[in-house]
Amino acid sequence: MTNEQQQILLEKVIQLRNQFHKRSKEVDQSGVFPHENFKELKDSGYLSWTVPKKYGGLGLNLYDFLRMQEQLAQGDGATALSIGWHLGSILELSENDSWNEAAFRNLCQKVVNEQALINRTATEKGTGSPTRGGVPETKATLQGDQWVINGRKSFASMAEALDYSLVTAHIEDTDRVGIFLVDHKHDGVKVEPTWNSASMRGTRSDDLVLQGVTVPKENFVEEEGKQVNPPFPKGWLLHIPACYLGIASAARQYAIDFASSYQPNSLPGPIKEVPEVQRKIGEMELALFQSREILYSVAQRWTACPESRGNIGTELSAVKHIVTNQAVHVVDLAMKIVGARSLSRDCPLERYHRDVRSGLHNPPMDDTVIKKLASKALEESQPTVTL
Ligand SMILES: Cc1cc2nc3c(=O)[nH]c(=O)nc-3n(C[C@H](O)[C@H](O)[C@H](O)COP(=O)(O)OP(=O)(O)OC[C@H]3O[C@@H](n4cnc5c(N)ncnc54)[C@H](O)[C@@H]3O)c2cc1C
Repeated sequence: MTNEQQQILLEKVIQLRNQFHKRSKEVDQSGVFPHENFKELKDSGYLSWTVPKKYGGLGLNLYDFLRMQEQLAQGDGATALSIGWHLGSILELSENDSWNEAAFRNLCQKVVNEQALINRTATEKGTGSPTRGGVPETKATLQGDQWVINGRKSFASMAEALDYSLVTAHIEDTDRVGIFLVDHKHDGVKVEPTWNSASMRGTRSDDLVLQGVTVPKENFVEEEGKQVNPPFPKGWLLHIPACYLGIASAARQYAIDFASSYQPNSLPGPIKEVPEVQRKIGEMELALFQSREILYSVAQRWTACPESRGNIGTELSAVKHIVTNQAVHVVDLAMKIVGARSLSRDCPLERYHRDVRSGLHNPPMDDTVIKKLASKALEESQPTVTL
């Protein structure tokens, strides 16, 4: 994509961001799914931006996808995280190229022509985060020429608005975990409104119940981790840190605007002139600079060097750890600048504070990242000193 094309897309996204920003308080306080935001995303064609060009999409790469997502998250974090699952899932299917070509093309056409919405539903109450290796309790059984799926998924973002889910299920016959494309119009697919979270309320990450759902054979996407062992790194999951970076940037902007206009009568000018406030602003800038640099440099490597993607799993995890924790830190600093008003339900910082916490519980989790880094260091280290 040329810089000019990127700029045009970014401008479209900035318009969406500004619209979402106006609704984000209402979305959070009502706890309802932001259907209006999704209508605007669909009207703008955003859902097909990571669909490969050969299937009618824009073929957005990881780097550009993250730039768009960071902007959307400044408007509404819950909308950005949700739509990030959709665009990211399509990007992964396209990059992995491991599914039946005709079936993937068919899905892409539904996304391009009808702006069909999909997500991955991999989490379950009994197994917890799928990244920790738990085997799904959801079962898939081959009966004749179709699969029958039974189970329950938790944390299914956008559940009520989805057209399709990529459901993970245990295949008893082979003792492997498979990924299946489930059409939400099929009998036996039901959403249970269990989402009552303090954070990212607009994602409506409700439960998805699957009771005797039949799935045609071609909708068996792949066996998890079959292509390579260890599993291929998931670059698309960088949409998670991009989202929390966006929320942190919005918090930073709010704090700077506040510091520029708030002048208590104990001071000759606004609080931005106070050295301690300036120190906190500087700390926010430092954290955001670090976060952006590492997020986009690793995304750039993923995009520019497809042949080395297999080797950057640890770096992807480290980016997620650094950026999400820095985002929590930035929102905290922004709240300290603004003071007690930042806790008001009328102040967006209070929402950013709750939303940014979700980043800690999106994959991969901090302890897993640290463990992975330690293992890599120990595996690679060559003794250089004779003790
Ligand atoms: C806003 C939001 C949206 C989401 N959307 C989706 C979605 O659309 N699709 C989807 O599939 N998922 C989604 N998720 C789920 C997410 O990816 C995680 O699976 C989910 O948050 C559960 O993670 P957990 O660490 O709390 O769970 P658990 O794995 O149950 O862990 C709970 C705690 O137990 C401990 N623990 C558990 N297992 C281990 C272990 N093996 N070793 C060490 N400690 C352990 C840890 O202390 C951990 O904090 C979403 C989550 C959030 C917050």
